[in-house]
Amino acid sequence: MTPELSFSLPADAESARIHEAYRRLIDAYLRSNHRRKVERIEKAFRFASAAHAGGRRRNGDPYILHPLEVARIAVAELGLGSTSICAALLHDVLENSDYTSEDIEDACGPKVAEIVEGVARISGGILGRAAEVQADKFRKLLLSMSSDVRVVLVKMADRMHNMRTLDALAPEKQRRVADETLYVYAPLAHRLGLSRFKYEFEDLAMRYNHPQEYADICSRVVDSEAERRRITEEFVAPVRRRLDEAGFSYEIAARVKSAYSIFNKMEKKGVPFEEVYDIYAVRVIFDNADDEDEKLRCWQIYTFFADNYQIHPGRLRDWVSAPKANGYRALHLTAMGPAGKWIEVQIRSRKMHEIAELGFAAHWKYKTDDTTPEAELDTWMNTIKEILANPGPDAIDFLDTIKLSLYSKEIYVFTPAGDLVTLPSGSTVLDAAFAIHSDLGVHCVAGQVNRRLLPPGHRLESGDQIRIITADSRHPAPDWLDRCITPTARHKIKTFLRKQADNAAPGQASGPGQPDSPFLNPA
Ligand code: MN
Repeated sequence: MTPELSFSLPADAESARIHEAYRRLIDAYLRSNHRRKVERIEKAFRFASAAHAGGRRRNGDPYILHPLEVARIAVAELGLGSTSICAALLHDVLENSDYTSEDIEDACGPKVAEIVEGVARISGGILGRAAEVQADKFRKLLLSMSSDVRVVLVKMADRMHNMRTLDALAPEKQRRVADETLYVYAPLAHRLGLSRFKYEFEDLAMRYNHPQEYADICSRVVDSEAERRRITEEFVAPVRRRLDEAGFSYEIAARVKSAYSIFNKMEKKGVPFEEVYDIYAVRVIFDNADDEDEKLRCWQIYTFFADNYQIHPGRLRDWVSAPKANGYRALHLTAMGPAGKWIEVQIRSRKMHEIAELGFAAHWKYKTDDTTPEAELDTWMNTIKEILANPGPDAIDFLDTIKLSLYSKEIYVFTPAGDLVTLPSGSTVLDAAFAIHSDLGVHCVAGQVNRRLLPPGHRLESGDQIRIITADSRHPAPDWLDRCITPTARHKIKTFLRKQADNAAPGQASGPGQPDSPFLNPA
C-alpha cells in the first residue's frame, strides 16, 4: 500500500502553517552541508501527510507539524542528513496509521524503514511507560542503538520536540515524561557529546518537576547578572590585553550555569543559591585556521592567565591532549580572581567549542572535502559503537547518572555472565536463583555474593554480583518459603512441594530431610 502522492495544499490557515513548517525544514536542510536530496524529503513528507491526515496533537495542532519539527531539529540541531530527515518525518507513522514498514520501504527505501522501525520499537517497547524505565532497559536501549545510532538521534529529536511542547499534557503525564527525559535522555545526550541537548533536556525537565524552584533560580540568575559581569570583566581584562597583543581573534564569555545544574548542586551539597552561584566561570574561544597548532595556542592562552593569576594546581584539566570519551576537548584551569574568588576557565578553539555544543552537527561542519557524508557518518557511528562496547573509565559515572536510587522498589544484580537481573527490593539469594532459572532455584544451596558465600535467605542489594551454588541432591522444603519474597520463587517452591506430596506415600509428604546444607538447616 502506497499513499496517494498527488499533493496540493488547500489555501486555509492550517495548511499555510504546515507549508511554512515544511519550508523551514527545507531551508535548514539546504543550509546544511549535505548533498541535496530534496525530492526524497518531499516524498517522505507527502507520505507522512497522508498517514497523519486528520490527526491532531493534544494541543489541537495538525499532527504533521510534529514530525516536521522533529525533522527540522534533526537537521538543524543534530546535523543529520536526508535519510534521518525522512525517518524523522515518518517516525510516528507505524504507531498512528495503518501503513506498515513495508509501505515505508517501498516509498523511501529500506534504510529509512529500518530507522523508523527502530524508533517505534524504542517508543513502544522499551521506554513506553516511564514507571518502567530501569537501568537494564536503558542498557538494552544502548545496545539496540548500536545497530544504527540514527535511531537514537531521531528519537532524541522527537523527545526534544515533545519536551518543548510538554505544556499540552496533563500535569501527571508531564512529570512522567520529564522524569524519563532527565534519567534517560539527558545522560544519553551527554554520552553522545550533545551538551546543548543535555542542558536543554535537564532545564525543561526541571521546569515541570520543580516549577517553583525553576522560576526562583532563573530570576535570581537575572538579578545577579550585572555583578557577575563586573567581576568577570575585571578578571579577564589583563588576559584580553595579552590576547590582543598576540593577535588572537577570540571571544570571552562569562559562563552561566544552567538552572538545573545550580539546582542539582544546591540539593546535592545542601548549600544555598549564593554559594553555588558564587562559582564564577569564563570561557575563551579562539579562532584557529590550522588544527595543527590548536594545542599550542591553548597553552599559550593558559600562560596569559598564569602570568596574571595564581592557578589552582589540582584543578588543571588537559582534555586537549587526552579528549574525553565523548570527544570533548578543552583546556580547563581554575585561577584566583579578584577579591580572592576562584574562577573556572575553559579554553577552546572554535572547532572544539562547536563539537562540544553541537556534537554531530559540528562534525558535519568540519568534514573535509575528500570524505563523503555517508563515510563520515559511518566513522562517527563506529566511534559511538566503540565507546559503548568498551566503556572508558567514566563508564561508572555514566551508569551513576541513571540514578538507580530512583527505582528504589527494585534492585539490580549481576549474573556471572554480566547479565542484569531486576528483582523487587528485599529479594534474597533464593529469589535471584529462581529469577535466573528454575533449575538454579530448586537446587540452590547458597549464593556466592561478591565472592562471599552466603545462605539462600541472604538479602541482596543493588549492584551485587551473584553466582548461585547448586547441588543435585538439594530440593525445596517448606521452610524455603521463609527465605524468599518473590511470587515466582514462592509459586515454584509450592508447586514443587505439592508435586512431591502427590508422588510420595501418605505420611512422607512432610518432605525429605535436607541434612547436607549448613545454610538451609542452621544449627
Ligand atoms: Mn513523535
